[in-house]
Amino acid sequence: MALAALVSGGLLGWAVYAAVGGPGDGGTSPSASASGTASETASSRTPPPGGGDTKPSASATTRSPSASAPAASGPLEGKVVVIDPGHNPTNFQHTTEINRQVDIGTNSKACDTTGTTTNDGYAEAKFTLDVAHRMRTLLEEQGATVELTQDADRPFGPCVDERARIGNEAKADAVVSIHADGSGTGNRGFHVILPGAVNAGAADTRAIVGPSRDLGERIAGSFVRVTGSAPSNYAGAGSGLVTRKDLGGLNLSTVPKVFIECGNMRDSKDAALLTSGAWRQKAAQGISDGIVSFLRGPGTPQ
Ligand SMILES: [Zn+2]
Repeated sequence: MALAALVSGGLLGWAVYAAVGGPGDGGTSPSASASGTASETASSRTPPPGGGDTKPSASATTRSPSASAPAASGPLEGKVVVIDPGHNPTNFQHTTEINRQVDIGTNSKACDTTGTTTNDGYAEAKFTLDVAHRMRTLLEEQGATVELTQDADRPFGPCVDERARIGNEAKADAVVSIHADGSGTGNRGFHVILPGAVNAGAADTRAIVGPSRDLGERIAGSFVRVTGSAPSNYAGAGSGLVTRKDLGGLNLSTVPKVFIECGNMRDSKDAALLTSGAWRQKAAQGISDGIVSFLRGPGTPQ
């Protein structure tokens, strides 16, 4: 997404998860990441430990869209995670359809958008699907039931209201919408977008604001640890957290949900990361670790 982030999540959230880095958090402290080393590419770093019982070396696999793995045993057995890969690789061929206005409770908004690209033409919609596939593998290894809102298996969309509905109807324990931003050169880093409290029309986020913040803080913390990326230098005042009330996918959610903008596709240094399969694996691991931490409950080391 290329929209300006309007509301800072504040430094508190950042301080909280920066302070509770779990065991195994060596070498990539958030303060180091935030203080200027972020211009290094991920490939020049020593890979940070994956943490916990995860398998950093696991390679991603791409499955046919309709494949659904049998429920596995693991700490997330019985938990449902919905992954929402932002946009759709062929949205650009369906501009009329995706420009249709849909009701997001607070107002109306376009059904969906094309998303951005790197300056070399790598599409955000390809990035989001790739990270989603890698996450699905990691989360299924933990025993979760995983559903994607789209898997390049439809010509456009889903619309943002349907994306929210898929998570709601799945009674998801957590939903994460995957994105990469289209901001200006020099704007770098990731940020997690949290739902603000809205109560208008079909939108009522009041019950999910708290748990969504918990989910988002855990994802931001683990994303820093695993990728070594710094929180955004242009949104969230260094916290990596931004609260918004203008996103249909959040406004219409009745289950804990956040978005993550993994980096800025229009910055060449961030683009070098986003176009790297090895880095996308770290991004998927970081996001998944945060989800696992959230689903295993309060008091679980992040
Ligand atoms: Zn996007």
